Amino acid sequence: MDESSMQSLQAALEQRRREGLYRQRRVTDGAQGPELVVDGRRMLSFCSNDYLGLAADPRLGEAVNRGVARYGVGSGAAHLISGHSAAHHALEEELAEFTGRERALLFSTGYMANLGVLSALLGRSDTVLEDRLNHASLIDGGILSRARFKRYAHADTDALAGLLREGEARCLVATDGVFSMDGDIAPLAGLAEQCSAHNAWLMVDDAHGIGVVGPQGRGSIVAAELGESDVPILMGTLGKALGTAGAFVAGPEVLIETLIQQARPYIYTTAMPAAIAEATRASLRIVLDEEWRRERLQGLIVRFRRGAARIGLELMDSETPIQPILLGSAQRALQWSDRLYREGILVTAIRPPTVPDGAARLRVTLSASHTVSQVETLLSVLEETAAELA
Ligand SMILES: *Cc1c(COP(=O)(O)O)cnc(C)c1O
Repeated sequence: MDESSMQSLQAALEQRRREGLYRQRRVTDGAQGPELVVDGRRMLSFCSNDYLGLAADPRLGEAVNRGVARYGVGSGAAHLISGHSAAHHALEEELAEFTGRERALLFSTGYMANLGVLSALLGRSDTVLEDRLNHASLIDGGILSRARFKRYAHADTDALAGLLREGEARCLVATDGVFSMDGDIAPLAGLAEQCSAHNAWLMVDDAHGIGVVGPQGRGSIVAAELGESDVPILMGTLGKALGTAGAFVAGPEVLIETLIQQARPYIYTTAMPAAIAEATRASLRIVLDEEWRRERLQGLIVRFRRGAARIGLELMDSETPIQPILLGSAQRALQWSDRLYREGILVTAIRPPTVPDGAARLRVTLSASHTVSQVETLLSVLEETAAELA
């Protein structure tokens, strides 16, 4: 790289910093949980996606150890070469059963699963319609597919209907189940109705719904009393409520076989370690058996919302553990997050382009592993912050 290209990168970084958009990593230590050591200091965290408090559960650790003893650490190859172990295979069968679907297929990450589905199913002559607030990986998958790409207004089934009436040969509609930055749930029944009326496929990315929403945490499609015929394509991730890593796609046999043949982010990548699949199997049993985790989480959500309303914070219409506090400008969101950080509370500021301009926020997430008193601590620091930075 020559001197002037380096300077142009440097100038872009500096501009980003001036606009309050500079992103920085924090180095954490200790097991994932409500209390983390961040940059050497003990902090109370309200920003992980470990909604059920399973990421550091000792039973998952034991399953990893058993998996390592049996399979070693690395999977050695892609699924289609020699990386598809008995543990992966069993997990796929259990995920199909859990979601009430014909089959499931593991991917190494949710990002790759979304790229894989959209690029395998769609081509230049097709159309993909997406909610404006979909996760970046669904957007990127739509772009990678080369299909005609349109977005509809957030959660607006009428807007979707208008686009569907334009009538395409093959059309896929993709939506988050629970929206990752707003915490609201997509109007799945209405979307499914429109898709069925216009013969379009519906795909739901339930990264934040699996484990948390619906009976036994079976996700937002089951919660909406819909099935595989209404929503043929489900993508779920394993690194959030399930506390491990990786992702899956679940749906009809023909979908899964098509992905195995054609999804490049499935074919050309090393399988996740088999020990992680073993840990996920252990996690899935806990998700099914320990209803108290979802009940406790719901209790904390209600408590947080009541407390935040009393302080006068601007919350969003969310009944999930994602409870954003809307603040407007990126600078204001950073100011709040810095103030909380000084008080020992870790809540990240979410800024454009992750959210629209003027909609920067603190994204508070709750977990079944938080205690009532930790939530009360958060509320009292938020109250002081609101008074000081009003
Ligand atoms: C986290 C997330 C993904 C990506 O999943 P990873 O396994 O972390 O790559 C995809 N979609 C949504 C909605 C997410 O929140």
